[in-house]
Amino acid sequence: MLFDSYFIDVLLPLPLERQFTYRITQEESDFLEIGMRVAVPFGKSKIYTGIVYKIHQQEPQIYDAKDIEQILDDTPILTELQLKHWAWISSYYMCALGEVLKAAFPSVFLLESETIVLSNPDFTDHDLLSSDAYLIYEALQRQSQISISQVSKILSKKQVFPTLKTMIAQEAIRLKEEIYEQYQPKMVSYIRLDTAWENKLEELLKFLSRSEKQRTLVLCYFSELAKSKNPLKKKELLQKSGISAAVCKGLEKKGIFEVYELQTDRVSFGEASQQIPTLSTDQSIALENIKTIVEQSDICLFHGVTGSGKTEIYAHLMQQVIDQGQQVLFLVPEIALTTQLIIRLQRFFGDQLSVYHSKYSQNERAEVWNHILKGSAKAKIVLGTRSAILLPFSHLGLIIVDEEHEASYKQYDPAPRYHARDAGIVLAKMHKSKIVLGSATPSLESFYNAKNGKYGLVSLNRRFGQVQMPNIHLVDLKEKHKKKRMTGHFSDTLLTAMKETLEVKEQVILFQNRRGFAPLIACETCGVSPQCPNCDVSLTEHKFKHELRCHYCGYHRAIPLKCDACGSADLSSKGFGTEQIENELLTLFPDHHIGRLDLDTTRGKYGYAKIIEAFQHGEIDILVGTQMLSKGLDFKNVTLVGVLNADNMLNFPDFRAHERSFQMLTQVAGRSGRNKKQGQVLIQTFNPYHQILQQVTTNSYVQMYEEQISDRRNFFYPPHFRMIQLTLKHKDFNLLNEGADWLGKSLKNSFGKHLLGPTSPAVARVRNLYIKKILIKIPPKQSVPDTKAHLQKVQNMFDAIGRFRAIRVNIDVDAY
Ligand code: ADP
Ligand code: ZN
Ligand code: ZN
Repeated sequence: MLFDSYFIDVLLPLPLERQFTYRITQEESDFLEIGMRVAVPFGKSKIYTGIVYKIHQQEPQIYDAKDIEQILDDTPILTELQLKHWAWISSYYMCALGEVLKAAFPSVFLLESETIVLSNPDFTDHDLLSSDAYLIYEALQRQSQISISQVSKILSKKQVFPTLKTMIAQEAIRLKEEIYEQYQPKMVSYIRLDTAWENKLEELLKFLSRSEKQRTLVLCYFSELAKSKNPLKKKELLQKSGISAAVCKGLEKKGIFEVYELQTDRVSFGEASQQIPTLSTDQSIALENIKTIVEQSDICLFHGVTGSGKTEIYAHLMQQVIDQGQQVLFLVPEIALTTQLIIRLQRFFGDQLSVYHSKYSQNERAEVWNHILKGSAKAKIVLGTRSAILLPFSHLGLIIVDEEHEASYKQYDPAPRYHARDAGIVLAKMHKSKIVLGSATPSLESFYNAKNGKYGLVSLNRRFGQVQMPNIHLVDLKEKHKKKRMTGHFSDTLLTAMKETLEVKEQVILFQNRRGFAPLIACETCGVSPQCPNCDVSLTEHKFKHELRCHYCGYHRAIPLKCDACGSADLSSKGFGTEQIENELLTLFPDHHIGRLDLDTTRGKYGYAKIIEAFQHGEIDILVGTQMLSKGLDFKNVTLVGVLNADNMLNFPDFRAHERSFQMLTQVAGRSGRNKKQGQVLIQTFNPYHQILQQVTTNSYVQMYEEQISDRRNFFYPPHFRMIQLTLKHKDFNLLNEGADWLGKSLKNSFGKHLLGPTSPAVARVRNLYIKKILIKIPPKQSVPDTKAHLQKVQNMFDAIGRFRAIRVNIDVDAY
């Protein structure tokens, strides 16, 4: 028996079913710990960064373990608890653990491997080379090395390995593996006086008597030092003194100044500047109730109406947790919407707050990661979007899920298709920490769980500071059209209210949900509207840029002058989106400033913040926007909210359409009258008697809940039934159909009437791939794990059928 073999199982950021085993030395085995990164060879010539998952002595049976390339960390970069949580995600959401790793890691942590091809100067037998090989050879005469991806470009094909392999055998080229670490902490140069000159200012000035400029710089150094004990930045000193860097260099050379570098954080909030406000009586009662509930049952749903001051209550909760030395995770649905929240929380918590989201640079994210891992004082509170639940918390005490009903907590593509609220509940359990789900309009699932005693429930029904709930009115569009009281998309009622509001210098928010009702152009002669060549959808009109765009794949073209189908020049715009509303406003209110908030106007890191700030500072009088506007914003001077058309939301083909409409309308209405004066809300609709609109106007969440939950029961939907959705994609329509039918039939055998489909979705082709969907509904008594296990078995059978292998099958657990 040999005892001198050592192995590690390595988790790679790839959609693989299992970990791979690599051979290590005994010394490496002694050094390595679970959670450290290693660079390992994988496949023919790739090198990947992976995570040590297991350290052991069992040689793999079916393949030869390769050696690792390199150890990349001195200490683990993640925690074992974190790995355990990832494993739960992978098993619950039916995806590979490597996919969770990929989603969790800032990409700078995953070293890049680029295979580099080098020329061999000794090679002379050109005649041996094939024509492809000759092209590569020639390219290497001009530059000393090229990457494999460049080779692919030169030959304009993907499969370049065979050619390269031959060339290696011929010794025409060599390969070089290059690994480099991308993450570099930001270094800042500081200046200090050489110790030899300490306390010798007079002597020093004498010594420098012949250099006026060096003397000035030294004097400036001393006066800055007298002001603050902090290390002095070189850049700052040069700015303050107005002296050039060359002069400073001179002082360095003379051994008077010493320049040293320190790592600094890219993002820093400074000191807290404000006490968390004292709570009102209502708020204090809510806070105490939440505390009692989480003591008993760990999970609390906090149902507080818009403007009830949930944020301040959270702040008190968080303070208590960080005082006990524990970490807080504050989850928000979308970072674009958190500019205001960051500012508010940063005032209370200063530097103890870290922010983690996709608009931060890779390096910024890596920094936050490290702070959390080390349990540093800078990351006591982590404010982040859904992927923040994948961070390396070491002693988590509390998770807050703000606006827990928001759809953006669910990741749809790519895998892991997880729900951050639900994965958060599991994370809290693993850490034995508390979790609070907050919303003015809780999701039906959460309210259902609260009603059934699974979560505790705390309600706060009054706004902070005796502010009244807004007054909501419905405007009947049918009648307005009949009586010719419409100007464009505006009823006279809405226009009058807007004028009155603007007259007293208050602000207006207009809400236009563009989803499912995009502006497009259509031919008046034959009715055809231009389609995307890659997807089965009409192109959307973007007037400002004079182009038509596909919202699924990004395809765009100029607005045509004539109909593609019949050649008629009679083309006109149909439907309306935010852009068109903005245009109408420009003519209706030429003397007022109009702003627009939607995906098109908020690109870039600060795109969103700019518009929000302009509105906050009163530089914009009327703000038009999409559902972005409905989320958690707090403007003091908005007293009128107008909804241009509530109907397209209500008619959206989705079992949650009614619930979502209620949430969206209630939230957007909640932006009105948040200060003293009661706000006003006008909702334009063709269906003023729709029960959802009635419930919105009377703020009847519970009634809405009762009705919807019984509909869900009657039609076998969540939360009574669970749902798993399969999405199949392939570019060959017939093959896709055949595959979908096979899978559908096989699953129908076991799931019977609760298997729906295969069906084609409304948009049946995206990016040239056809799409089919299959839905598995799981009745309350059927075991979810068994269902998943069976599904996995059938899918393995499907994958084993050769011709189906190329069909992509995505599994989405809890697909809602
Ligand atoms: P919600 O998130 O519940 O919609 P917010 O937390 O935005 O409500 O609070 C609404 C407004 O009331 C905010 O402007 C907030 O600053 C203010 N507010 C809430 N609680 C207090 C308090 N205890 N003291 C002072 N201002 C408060
Ligand atoms: Zn036409
Ligand atoms: Zn497209």
